[in-house]
Amino acid sequence: MDITIDHDKCMGAGQCALIAPEVFDQGDDGMALLLVDRPGTAQAPAVREAAESCPLSAISVADDRPGTA
Ligand code: SF4
Repeated sequence: MDITIDHDKCMGAGQCALIAPEVFDQGDDGMALLLVDRPGTAQAPAVREAAESCPLSAISVADDRPGTA
């Protein structure tokens, strides 16, 4: 899966870093940082939950196409 954070939308609510701390962190300015560009399947549920929980819908998740994982 590929993750994209829209930094124009992110306002540093921190939900993502709480829900999936192995994938998301917050910078000194509070904005979300990606720790892992392409998380494995073990992290996928937390990543999806983080994306759904982001109050600004700033996180986009795209599934890998079959055979590209
Ligand atoms: S949950 Fe959304 S708004 Fe909050 S830090 Fe993460 S990406 Fe930014």
